[in-house]
Amino acid sequence: MDKKLRPNSNIIERLADSLRAKAKAPAGAFVVLILLYIMSVVMITVVARSEAVITLGDMKAPLDSFAGVFSALSNICIIMIVVFYGKSGFIASLVMLLGQFPSMVTGLLIRHQPSSISGLFTNTFAIVAVIMIYINKKKVNEYHERMTKLAVTDRLTSLPNRFACGEITRRYIKRGEDFAAVSIDVNNFKSINDTMGYATGNKILIEIAERLKAVQESETFTEQAVARLSGDEFALLIRRYTSEEQVLDIIKKYESAINSVITIDGCDLYITASFGYAFYPNDAVTADALFICANAAMEEVKRAGSSRHIMRFTPNIVKEERTLELESRLRTALDSDGIYFNLQPQFDLSHRLRGFEALARMNDENGRPISPGEFIPVAEKVGLVDKIDGVVLRKSAEFFGPLLKKSGLDITLSVNVSVRHLMNNDFIDELKNVLETTGIPADHFEIEITESIMIDSVDKALRVISEVEKLGVKIAIDDFGTGYSSLSYLNKFPADLLKIDKSFIDTMNTNDSSRQYVAAIISIGHIMGFDVISEGVEDAEQLDTLKEIGCDYIQGFIWGRPLSMAEAEKVVLSQAG
Ligand code: C2E
Ligand code: MG
Ligand code: MG
Repeated sequence: MDKKLRPNSNIIERLADSLRAKAKAPAGAFVVLILLYIMSVVMITVVARSEAVITLGDMKAPLDSFAGVFSALSNICIIMIVVFYGKSGFIASLVMLLGQFPSMVTGLLIRHQPSSISGLFTNTFAIVAVIMIYINKKKVNEYHERMTKLAVTDRLTSLPNRFACGEITRRYIKRGEDFAAVSIDVNNFKSINDTMGYATGNKILIEIAERLKAVQESETFTEQAVARLSGDEFALLIRRYTSEEQVLDIIKKYESAINSVITIDGCDLYITASFGYAFYPNDAVTADALFICANAAMEEVKRAGSSRHIMRFTPNIVKEERTLELESRLRTALDSDGIYFNLQPQFDLSHRLRGFEALARMNDENGRPISPGEFIPVAEKVGLVDKIDGVVLRKSAEFFGPLLKKSGLDITLSVNVSVRHLMNNDFIDELKNVLETTGIPADHFEIEITESIMIDSVDKALRVISEVEKLGVKIAIDDFGTGYSSLSYLNKFPADLLKIDKSFIDTMNTNDSSRQYVAAIISIGHIMGFDVISEGVEDAEQLDTLKEIGCDYIQGFIWGRPLSMAEAEKVVLSQAG
């Protein structure tokens, strides 16, 4: 019989462990350090007892004066063992240090060697230092442990969160076995929240999570994992099924678990949810693409508004509407210099300007701007996005270079770079050329790449990114938190800045788990050495929370909408002066 699914708490433990794994030092080096330590201790005794004198140029040095060198070497070994090898390093160090006391005491009392006195003191201080380092390291490790667990756990429901879901999905993909990804969204949750208040909304979400967990734990023939992605969005992964019918039967169990009446604060509530599912590898081969498919099917359920609450993804669900029209508009805009940019300011928390993000703009036939949120995905699909990126990169740099020089401010220009643009063979040359011709120093220029590039094309992207890093250009990870990324990828990525996606900032003050999530991203970002910026900050309450939880920078309507060149120049000159 197939293996039963391990409980969610174990999933969380295992994921948190894997995030901390990078701290492990190689076992071989442990043995080398111990041998080096023993050798230095032996050498201290040998040279201390020696009466030989060696000649160094004009100088004659008694060999016993080198005892200090070996003593320093032995202390360095001990410190490295405690720092890098945790508890076993601590025990080994104590054993080695304590083990020397008998010979020192006999040296002092029986052989009357004065060098044993300094040895006794050095050894005692070393023991105190080892204990202090160990206690301090333990505290730091406990903190890391708490933070990594927090990073993969949804605080409201204790289910694995979006990161965890991404990690589990990636692991399934790595194993190469078939599995189904299910996107679950509670129907009309917004109106429940609006009419009954957030506290009741949270209770409902907790109850739904409990029910989903109960179904998951009752299943013995297939392997399942449930996660909460955000708000009223949940995800389910199913492995080891025998047929699509079985998958559908399983999803129906989750559906009826949610559908049965929920009594909260004396009120009977009839909740329903929409389910969309997609299969790996039939429908998509990456975690992001798979959930886009499952989501599209779930959205289709909502749109159809019928009594059927479960739908499988099919390619014709993806809307083709408007794509053709936008494609022709994009081609015309590219040919007629119709792509331009706005600059949205970024600030530190004391309202000092950090720089600007350049955002692409294009107008429709009536001169009204079309949102890049709409035309960039089309440009990606039809292979024009690198051209748009290129125009925005060049035009915004040509504007920013002279302004930077004129203002003398320490500010940065950020541009969005798509995968297609990043992977162009001449991307690095293009970047160098723009920096040279506009006179922007590399460390005043930043490229923003979305989290999904990092996940889907990490190896290819890393080669280009490390070239970018060599140029000295800064790297920001955009829309962080929305993809299904693995935190462990962040270790590989030479990024400078994490941009927390607006969706988390939107719900941060209405939803405790979102706030905890944002706080966790900030802490993890700091632990990994990144600065953190929050996107889409719109009100003072969000600003206060971000100050409180230690965010470094903000970008949002509260302090600045995307601006024209003239408006951006005004902002710069007012700060300069
Ligand atoms: P993004 O890079 O995450 O940019 C931030 C988006 O959030 C911008 O939308 C900005 O106007 C919006 N925003 C910032 N603060 C607030 C706020 O407080 N409230 C609200 N409601 N919105 C806020 P925009 O300009 O519509 O851009 C959408 C997306 O299009 C960008 O998201 C980026 O992914 C893409 N994009 C824009 N320009 C380019 C480009 O030149 N190249 C590429 N590849 N993508 C681009
Ligand atoms: Mg961006
Ligand atoms: Mg963003």
